[in-house]
Amino acid sequence: MGKKNVKSAKYAKQAKQRRAAAARHAAVFSEILRGDRERAATVIGSGPRASSSTPWSDFIDAHPTVADAVAVAEGAGGVISCFSVDDSGEFERSLRREPDGWRYEVVLYPWISLRDLVKACWLNAEDRDQAVEQLRRALAADVPEELRHPEVETVVRTSTSQVPRIGWAQSLSSEGLVTWEDVALAEKGMSLFGLAPYACETEVLSEARFALFREHGLIAQACAGCGAAVSERHPHWPGVLVAMDHEYGPVCDRSLLEGESWQQVGHVLDVARARPASKATGTERKTRCRHCEREITDQHPDWPGIWSTVDRYRSPICAVVGSGGSEDQVYDLIDCVYPHAAVDEDCPVDSAVTRARDIGYYAPALRLG
Ligand SMILES: [Zn+2]
Ligand SMILES: [Zn+2]
Repeated sequence: MGKKNVKSAKYAKQAKQRRAAAARHAAVFSEILRGDRERAATVIGSGPRASSSTPWSDFIDAHPTVADAVAVAEGAGGVISCFSVDDSGEFERSLRREPDGWRYEVVLYPWISLRDLVKACWLNAEDRDQAVEQLRRALAADVPEELRHPEVETVVRTSTSQVPRIGWAQSLSSEGLVTWEDVALAEKGMSLFGLAPYACETEVLSEARFALFREHGLIAQACAGCGAAVSERHPHWPGVLVAMDHEYGPVCDRSLLEGESWQQVGHVLDVARARPASKATGTERKTRCRHCEREITDQHPDWPGIWSTVDRYRSPICAVVGSGGSEDQVYDLIDCVYPHAAVDEDCPVDSAVTRARDIGYYAPALRLG
């Protein structure tokens, strides 16, 4: 199976899981509407995620009623929130004290391709503080006309890293919300949820969407080979075009072009530069990577100045992001994939690798072949 197919299969699987869960949620809602809570509980328990809790289900368990959550928020500066990946999107639900009283707020965040574009634009910006406001405006303008509603606003919320967290929010007075079933019913009337399929973009973004982000003063660049949003200013990969995903990073699968190759090549901004993979001369200097211990060179013509393996794949990727960390930490993660580091050379990524190993973000790259 080619890399393109692997990626498509992965997206297809995610989409299938999302659809199954959406059907399950719809069933739960209709059972709750009919007042049959016991039956609703059975439907909740019937899905493939039956045994695994989500941050939101844990939150509900920890705070049996809305008033219990508000009481905790009182002692926590007036806000309590829960970031939870739902099969239809990335949501943050919170209870916030506002001048007019307590409000229940739901924020929907960009996911997959759109999230990668936000991250790449932010990394590319000269002035990253200014970029946050430019991104907020771009995301507001990017919402299709028919999905815009005056009650939905584009907001910046607290991130677990320096990567900004920007999304679309809708809130309502928490007055009258007693149980979490009340909240679930109230959510049914929130137009915000109509944006979820748009926020979760599994396909390559159109050039028009990149152009819209550029119109807002951002540096939005798409790779001509695969369509991914790329940046040359990732802290682990200075001067190298990298995509923000957690598998490919600097490697382009050329899925928009012919000539996919088993030998790994980089992203290109200009289609004319998408050359086929080159051959090594055999005279490249070699050393070992101190993290994965594979033999590496920084003189392969496809990866000049970047450590790549000397096997047939020429992989510049030492490790990928592991599964550690909470859902919101993973969402805010700046790391995409990790580069090799020569045994005898100082590597600026070392501290990030150490940190990532400690919390389980670090996973050795698959050894192909
Ligand atoms: Zn590419
Ligand atoms: Zn390595």
